[in-house]
Amino acid sequence: LPISQTNSQPNSQPPFPIPSRDADAHKGTFGRVLLIGGSRGMAGSIAMSAIAAMKSGSGLVSVAVPDPCLETVASFHPAMMTIPISDDGGGCFGSNAASELLPKLESVDAIAVGPGMTTGPGAKQIVEDLIDSAGRPMVLDADAINCLAAKEDSNQVRLNRVVLTPHPGELQRLTGVSSGQRDAQIAAASKFAKETAATIVVKGGPTVVVDGQQTYVNETGNPGMATGGSGDVLTGVITSLLGQGLSPWEASCQGVWVHGLAGDIAATQCGEISMTAMEIISSLSSAFQQSS
Ligand code: AMP
Ligand code: MG
Repeated sequence: LPISQTNSQPNSQPPFPIPSRDADAHKGTFGRVLLIGGSRGMAGSIAMSAIAAMKSGSGLVSVAVPDPCLETVASFHPAMMTIPISDDGGGCFGSNAASELLPKLESVDAIAVGPGMTTGPGAKQIVEDLIDSAGRPMVLDADAINCLAAKEDSNQVRLNRVVLTPHPGELQRLTGVSSGQRDAQIAAASKFAKETAATIVVKGGPTVVVDGQQTYVNETGNPGMATGGSGDVLTGVITSLLGQGLSPWEASCQGVWVHGLAGDIAATQCGEISMTAMEIISSLSSAFQQSS
């Protein structure tokens, strides 16, 4: 559907209730999430996803990164746990990365893969194996989408617990529809979602979520969010909500709504021009308070 033909009411309320916290809750109640990504030169992206997941309520957040990035990523937040994965000698995931990662998935409630990861052979193998064997809710973002797009017959893959969060360039790689054609991109994403059973967050202003049956047009957010790392923050928010038990559809719609509201709060504090992804992260706490 063209954007103009979808929801007619402005969505100034969150689309789903934010999970409440029982008095006897413990950190296991709110999900253990694992974020996989980063490379030398792009260590910050997976770190921002991880901090956003913490700020979104996850009980435990672990990050798996190529070994040379470990200290950098760990230094961003003392509560972040880090898992070193062998690299290719150049700071990207190496050929053994996928086999090192798979045993780490057992106790994890939700996974994110992609931010800052590059698309080398180690990264491609990780995406392949996660799709085949993860069996738990997962966000594929950034280079994980580029790895998926490089597969032949990517629309034949089963993605039924998977959320894809492409920006227009990534969606072009996935579907072949040019990033300038917004409505055609949304239609192509909807078709891809139907074929694969994925939920797809078509990012932009506004962001549109599709799953092949339903369309949600988000109305929070502003152009100040067009800044590096903004999408990495969204990945952390959605992954956190998946880990707290929301369905892919609920986590996607709720995630884009809260992320956009955080951007709107950040804009009132530092303006659209000076906003960075770190201000969006800082505003997540107010956004969740306003959503509950
Ligand atoms: P990425 O390109 O992966 O960093 O993602 C960019 C993020 O910023 C997405 O969540 C977009 O929806 C958001 N964003 C980018 N441009 C705009 C805009 N003009 N209005 C609202 N949100 C935007
Ligand atoms: Mg991105």
